[in-house]
Amino acid sequence: MGCIEHKKSPATDSNGRDFNPYEVMEPRLPGKTPVDRRNGKHVKANDIPPEGVYLPNNNILAPHMKSPEYVQLSNAAAITLGIMGGRMYGCECTRCLNLLLTYPEGCRANCAYCGLARHREAERDYADRNFIRVDWPAVPMTDIVDIVARDPENSPFHRMCISMITHPRSEQDTFNVLEQWTDRIDPDAIPVSILSNPTTMTRDDVQKCKDLGADIFTVALDAATPELFDRTRGKGVQSPHKWKKYWDTLLEAKDIFGQEKFGAHIIVGMGETEYEVLNLVQELVDLGGHSHMFCFFPEEGSLMDHLPATPRDQWRRVQLARYLIDYRDVRVDHMRFDDAGRVTDYGISNAELNDVIDAGIAFRTSGCPGKFQDDISACDRPYGDSPPSNIASYPFQPKKKDLKKIRKQLDIPVTVR
Ligand code: SF4
Repeated sequence: MGCIEHKKSPATDSNGRDFNPYEVMEPRLPGKTPVDRRNGKHVKANDIPPEGVYLPNNNILAPHMKSPEYVQLSNAAAITLGIMGGRMYGCECTRCLNLLLTYPEGCRANCAYCGLARHREAERDYADRNFIRVDWPAVPMTDIVDIVARDPENSPFHRMCISMITHPRSEQDTFNVLEQWTDRIDPDAIPVSILSNPTTMTRDDVQKCKDLGADIFTVALDAATPELFDRTRGKGVQSPHKWKKYWDTLLEAKDIFGQEKFGAHIIVGMGETEYEVLNLVQELVDLGGHSHMFCFFPEEGSLMDHLPATPRDQWRRVQLARYLIDYRDVRVDHMRFDDAGRVTDYGISNAELNDVIDAGIAFRTSGCPGKFQDDISACDRPYGDSPPSNIASYPFQPKKKDLKKIRKQLDIPVTVR
């Protein structure tokens, strides 16, 4: 048993809290969308044909772009591909080519923390919406495949990921995008992950992803408890998702994709306790899967944009404990928690804990693995959950000065040996 205990609670927000409690993290309710802006009507009525790359906020009406011909991709992926100019703090490129299906009517769900949510059609065309803090340019899928297929073995990308959204065509178009990729790029050279949308999926759909060459299947659970799920992604915000369906799909993925080849995305700091989220991490590990963590950030235009980002103290504790459960065989029941569910003891010796902190990997972005080592994610999502000035998930190996900051946030001082 470890002996690093937090005697006091470091206070980090203006209210003296070092975690986001459930009662504070209440989303606002979605407003009513004017009829002429519902279901992408505005874009479809103008029907401007797309031409090559579409950069968000071009101040023209968004053209009528649809998957599977078009996909959106993260800013980081667009920069790495050479489709867009720009630099990223601390990293030359991203190792994961994150793709997102796109439609004029966009995602039909209404998740409270998400920039792509349906309620935003009242003020912003789908192709112009921000998502995990950045804009997502839309690009013809053939352009992307042409570039990567030139030399997949030496590509900067260690993985490609297709993110589904809630849309009646989502499954069909995921299969199509996956086929466009595997027809020309060996999935052994660059493996593919699917970030699924269980609400519209059947077991056969999960199987088909596997049959078409996907390597890892993940479920965007996002909320850490059924109650929180309902509040942020279900009935609470007029959104169609149900915890049970997500969990059932996760179990199907376990059967079909097998050990270490499935997992769940979880956002930390939306009102769950540290104990609750780490209990979920343990459940996933016990099933044979992994958790991929995001730090809650109040996305502009979302139904939670008025709420505080996750205090770094809470986030670091969960990052560290999750890493120990996922990769160091520590169990949640070896750890100790206070009355508010905060981690007070990580369940290993000081020496071991110090080694893990100093290695820094626990504080990097978590996600599907790349080609470096199992516990280093290909999916580094540069600044997807924080600004570079106050990094939550490090998209690069934390340096000495970063580790000093992390230790301060953890309230675990540097040990003199
Ligand atoms: S289903 Fe996904 S993309 Fe759609 S609103 Fe929810 S989190 Fe956003």
